[in-house]
Amino acid sequence: MTGFLAGRTALVTGSTSGIGLAIARALAAEGARIGVNGLADAAERDAALAAMREAGAPEARFFDADLTDAAAIDAMMDEVAAWGGCDVLVNNAGMQKTISIAELDRGLWDRFMALNLSACFHTMHRAMPAMAEKGFGRVLNIASVHGIVASKNKAPYVSSKFGLVGLTKVAALEYAATGSRETGGVTVNAICPGWVETPLIEPQIEAMAEKHGGDRAAGVRDLLSEKEPSLRFAAPEDIGALALFLCSQAAHNITGVAIPVDGGWTAQ
Ligand code: NAD
Repeated sequence: MTGFLAGRTALVTGSTSGIGLAIARALAAEGARIGVNGLADAAERDAALAAMREAGAPEARFFDADLTDAAAIDAMMDEVAAWGGCDVLVNNAGMQKTISIAELDRGLWDRFMALNLSACFHTMHRAMPAMAEKGFGRVLNIASVHGIVASKNKAPYVSSKFGLVGLTKVAALEYAATGSRETGGVTVNAICPGWVETPLIEPQIEAMAEKHGGDRAAGVRDLLSEKEPSLRFAAPEDIGALALFLCSQAAHNITGVAIPVDGGWTAQ
């Protein structure tokens, strides 16, 4: 395997579906060993691991952890360390639900914070010191346009994603001077997608479609025209391509940024 990530290991959380699966596939195609994670049944795990090998990963392993559970994350990071550690950490696992502040209960709020924000801190806390020692590391936090701007009925999502962008910037500053151009440095960036067609947004498409008697295409049109000027989805593979570039040596001096992939949403 001769890809530029040959000899590197990537841990991609939530990589049994959607954006995480596409990012993991892109990293695998450049020769990285892939640590797969997600809330998945045996068939989904096997499919994700097979996809990694098919894409070119020299090795792929499933790390079983519900990332709302800090003890499970610790156990996962122990196993990752015993596997040789990770040079690339992609914090991608996340949840979404449309709900007003008045309707929201504390349990759901806590679950959002645990998965969308605290889990990212826990994995970074464990993985980044070894990256600094090597002089190479890449942390990609999959935030959202909702880490940059708000929408109503998304308080826990927006709060957790704004927090994730903040965590990204602080970590970028703390590790900015580690490594060199030659070693690649340690960078920490957030990717902030607008609408990406994955199972995560299906309930929102369905809610829009209901207003058109269940017409999915009409629901999609409404969803996109509300906020996304390009009027089109990004594909998970588009996010994978950006993630790959951020892992390259050429991206050694890009750190602490939150890059929108949103068809102009946050330009408005
Ligand atoms: P998805 O539903 O297709 O995939 C989510 C992944 O996270 C799955 O692998 C799932 O098993 C995993 N996961 C969920 N809860 C978990 C838990 N408790 N522990 C471990 N893994 C868990 O969703 P997606 O659209 O690919 O979303 C991935 C990320 O992208 C999320 O952080 C999401 O907020 C963000 N994002 C998505 C969009 C979009 O339009 N799809 C837009 C902006 C940001």
